[in-house]
Amino acid sequence: MGRGRLVPRYEDGRTAEDRRTQRFLQDNEVLEHVTAFANERIALAYDVPVVAKSCGGANASWDPRAKDITYCYELVEETRPVFLEQAAREGSGSAADRTRAAEDGVIGFSNGVLLHELGHGLVDMYDLPITGKEEDAVDQLATLLLATGGEQHIDYAVSTINAWGALADAQEAGDLSGLFSDEHSLSAQRFYNEICWLYGSDPAAFASAVIAVGNPDGVLPPLRAEGCRQEYEQIHRSWNRLLQPYLK
Ligand SMILES: [Zn+2]
Repeated sequence: MGRGRLVPRYEDGRTAEDRRTQRFLQDNEVLEHVTAFANERIALAYDVPVVAKSCGGANASWDPRAKDITYCYELVEETRPVFLEQAAREGSGSAADRTRAAEDGVIGFSNGVLLHELGHGLVDMYDLPITGKEEDAVDQLATLLLATGGEQHIDYAVSTINAWGALADAQEAGDLSGLFSDEHSLSAQRFYNEICWLYGSDPAAFASAVIAVGNPDGVLPPLRAEGCRQEYEQIHRSWNRLLQPYLK
């Protein structure tokens, strides 16, 4: 088994806003926690830097040449208002409570994004066979890791799902044509997929996710919900088989 690990690193932000974001991520040890979480579970063939930095655009990526993961401060900055709006809509508590809720959302989403990028890294590093969209496959891995990672990580999965929901609303208000050719599924699809898989990981615990009479908070249509247990089990089986030699 490889002895490689994810190795977190923060580069100094190039703008005042990026430096504030850098401090936020550092104070909350976001990269430290997500890399430790993954390192406990999966052995890598070589060390992989996970670098938070100013990129000039909102992005996160696996670089197949450099063999590293980049997490751009700008992506955090783009996501924060999404969670702030959500906290304001839910209208609970003081401004400080809403800020904290938004920060928790950003931390959760960061975990979802970084585990997604780890998925791209694993596919490349171990030449894993993937049929269908790699983007969907690594969304599955990220959700699987979060769903099986205990209460805190389940909250992270929920934050990630909330972000896709809000981003989907924003996408639908704009011009969709460029998105149909994008390699990622639409944010709305990532929203429903990840709800379905999280629900499928424990249908009893997440029963309130399903639309039903007397459940105004339900979001997942019953027709999709029906197959989610099976979808989740297939994802679980498939990723376990693919990663079996590398699981700790
Ligand atoms: Zn991706």
